[in-house]
Amino acid sequence: MPRQPRIAIVGGGIGGLAAALALERRGAETVVCEQAGALSEIGAGLNLTPNAVKALRALGLESAVNGIAAETNFLNIRSWKSGRYISRTRRADFRQRFGAPNLSVHRADLLEVVAGALQATTIRFGARCVGVEGGARVASARFADGSAIEADIVVGADGIHSAVRESLFGADKPRFTGCICWRGMAPADALPADIDAANGLMWMGPHGHVVHYPVRRGELLNIVAHVDSDAWTEESWTHECDVSEVMTTYAAWNPALTKLYRCSERWYKWALYDRDPLEKWSVGRATLLGDAAHAMLPYLGTGAGMAIEDACVLAAAIARDGDDLGAALANYERLRVPRTKAAVLGARARAKENHLASPWARLKRDIKFALRERFGGEDTTAFQVGWLYDYDVGRELS
Ligand SMILES: Cc1cc2nc3c(=O)[nH]c(=O)nc-3n(C[C@H](O)[C@H](O)[C@H](O)COP(=O)(O)OP(=O)(O)OC[C@H]3O[C@@H](n4cnc5c(N)ncnc54)[C@H](O)[C@@H]3O)c2cc1C
Repeated sequence: MPRQPRIAIVGGGIGGLAAALALERRGAETVVCEQAGALSEIGAGLNLTPNAVKALRALGLESAVNGIAAETNFLNIRSWKSGRYISRTRRADFRQRFGAPNLSVHRADLLEVVAGALQATTIRFGARCVGVEGGARVASARFADGSAIEADIVVGADGIHSAVRESLFGADKPRFTGCICWRGMAPADALPADIDAANGLMWMGPHGHVVHYPVRRGELLNIVAHVDSDAWTEESWTHECDVSEVMTTYAAWNPALTKLYRCSERWYKWALYDRDPLEKWSVGRATLLGDAAHAMLPYLGTGAGMAIEDACVLAAAIARDGDDLGAALANYERLRVPRTKAAVLGARARAKENHLASPWARLKRDIKFALRERFGGEDTTAFQVGWLYDYDVGRELS
């Protein structure tokens, strides 16, 4: 019987842990090397589109995720100042249309579910990777403390500033998108009456948009406010700031939002970056996964979903081509590169349309959304992302 492959995963975020789970379920020996001293996630929300929920189903986590998630029946788009409803996209029928609902979760809750399902994976903490070599038969990773690890495959799941990516493909800085955002989290029982906390809401205005949706079974409301600005370029997800910054930026927007901002005890801000899509993810036996491979803007709410899909496909490819791991990585890339590239570019396109400044351009856009909702077409999702939601990684692998 052939030996089970040894896989070293650099990065213990959602993508890295999902990969460890998918791989150990298929019998691989897995080790996760995480730079931090413990597994942790920021206090922010994550939208899980139907394709992401199907990927979690493929990992056997759907019911655990249902237990921590909120399901929203509508994605409503409102006008920034008047609060007028531009469109209301039904999500309640996503189960019938796409085979899974749209869910939203607290990031820390999701990480806990994935980490809690791991049984055979070893996690090395304090392991900051500084370089990876992908050879024809093995790959190795070096760490800041001078240690090294060798494995049949090394997977770089180390996020947007991936050291593995830089090591394999050279320095290529993430692209600042000219957009910054603030995020907050408010208890659902303390919200202003004119805020619909049961659904996904998007307020579209000139040079910015604001999104809020429930997480943690509806107990909390996740709020993310985006604006075009180059006044801040730090990408840290944990830079705390004062609510007054948010209030000042959105002073001219609908008063319901001003009231909402006050409900979050803490506010954080960060600059948004993405990367140009890579055509190739692997060098020898080393490859990439998640944001390391395809960091994207958050406007399709699917970066983490794509990382979870990557995890499922990588594990299946390795299980299928176990005696030719080079072929397995080639298959993984072939299946993942086109889809993730479409998501990166789709999210970029949304950035432009979300932040239109000219009143005429906004009016045209709003009419388009309103007509789409009322008369639909084949794809009645607000942002024409049926192609994204329809994908079922379980079907791909069968
Ligand atoms: C504002 C915003 C909103 C978003 N909203 C959504 C959403 O609604 N839905 C969605 O699906 N996605 C969303 N995303 C995208 C999502 O957050 C990412 O796609 C997802 O976190 C990627 O997971 P990952 O595991 O690849 O990387 P990360 O979550 O970044 O994890 C990387 C891990 O690697 C570790 N690491 C880093 N460098 C090293 C190193 N050198 N050595 C060892 N370990 C290392 C880190 O400590 C971390 O644990 C959003 C992103 C942003 C910025």
